[in-house]
Amino acid sequence: MISPVMPVYRRSPLAFERGEGVYLYDDKGEEYLDFVAGIAVSAFGHAHPHLVNALKAQSEKLWHTSNLFRIPGQEVLAQKLVDASFADTVFFTNSGAESIECAVKMARRYHHGEGNPDRYRIITFRQAFHGRTMTGISATNQEKLRDGFGPLPDWFDVVPFGDLDAVEEALCSESAAFMVEPVQGEGGVSAAPQGFLQALREIADAKDMLLIFDEIQCGMGRTGKFFAHEHDGVLPDIVASAKGIGGGFPLGACLANERAAKHMTAGAHGSTYGGNPLAMAVGNAAMDILLADGFLDRVAAMGEKLEAMLKELITEFPQAFEEVRGRGLMRGLKLNFPVADMVAVCRDQKLLTAPAAGDVLRLLPPLIIEETHIAQAKEKLRAAAKAMMTQHQLG
Ligand SMILES: *Cc1c(COP(=O)(O)O)cnc(C)c1O
Repeated sequence: MISPVMPVYRRSPLAFERGEGVYLYDDKGEEYLDFVAGIAVSAFGHAHPHLVNALKAQSEKLWHTSNLFRIPGQEVLAQKLVDASFADTVFFTNSGAESIECAVKMARRYHHGEGNPDRYRIITFRQAFHGRTMTGISATNQEKLRDGFGPLPDWFDVVPFGDLDAVEEALCSESAAFMVEPVQGEGGVSAAPQGFLQALREIADAKDMLLIFDEIQCGMGRTGKFFAHEHDGVLPDIVASAKGIGGGFPLGACLANERAAKHMTAGAHGSTYGGNPLAMAVGNAAMDILLADGFLDRVAAMGEKLEAMLKELITEFPQAFEEVRGRGLMRGLKLNFPVADMVAVCRDQKLLTAPAAGDVLRLLPPLIIEETHIAQAKEKLRAAAKAMMTQHQLG
């Protein structure tokens, strides 16, 4: 008999009751070191007092009015996002997939408005993850996401990540935009090769295409910069954001420059919940923390320490671990054995991690971690590695 909760997830048996900072506690009071942070969502750890207070205070005043009315919290948060980034304007959503949807619609609307309705195709990249809507799964080649949902809309040309020749070959008179994760998350924690995003920018400029970055996972401080594309010194036209932006409250945003949003006029798009007062209260509080003096520098410093720690593990267990990937506090450890096994033994060590494609162990700790947490994670990963060496007869 099917379970009342639709069984679309292969869930771990753990259930948590409360969280505090970098730790989660299950119903037996067992403590877990959280190096997954709800998949890069709980960026400020669990139960951060500033976020809790913001949500509490708003919840006693007003929950929801709809976008039929002005929402002052939106105006404040949009201004903060504009001031902190490439963007001139922001549309608020409730999830990553909705931010992608807005980005794709905006690209369509742009070319339509410019008199080129035939320019509708978007070039995307293999192993990409852009969410689970029909649009999102159409935008990737990942068969496990697409299987059983065809026929899918044929709007996307998917080429190998980082392959400029393949990009050039895919270009056609109908090309409207590029959509790319500056650091692929689910696909294996891979940063775009040096110069790749810049090259896409140059093609986009030459051909009046739009450059869309999916920073749902890698943005909002995760890599030590406000947005990951800042490492590459490239300006996008549109950025899809979500995950860390709400620190655990369902919130997303689609940011754009004035050119890309030129034809997003009244009635062009909407969302009942998007940017509601509860989400705005938490989003604004999250931004206070993220933009505080020195916060991003600390994330960058911790990211380097995490990278160094993982490199030490490779030196100690060369038969088990291959390489460290990613940026800042978005890290992947490429394994020589199935990642599901590693996630399970880490869990036995009371360390929470996530898998990524290609047997990559994904580490996404809250951005507030300290060196002691990295040291703790190292001991747990060492114990897990030893268990794996025996189980898989490595070395
Ligand atoms: C998580 C994620 C999405 C989808 O976000 P949802 O909130 O699950 O809809 C899209 N793109 C990337 C890069 C993601 O990591």
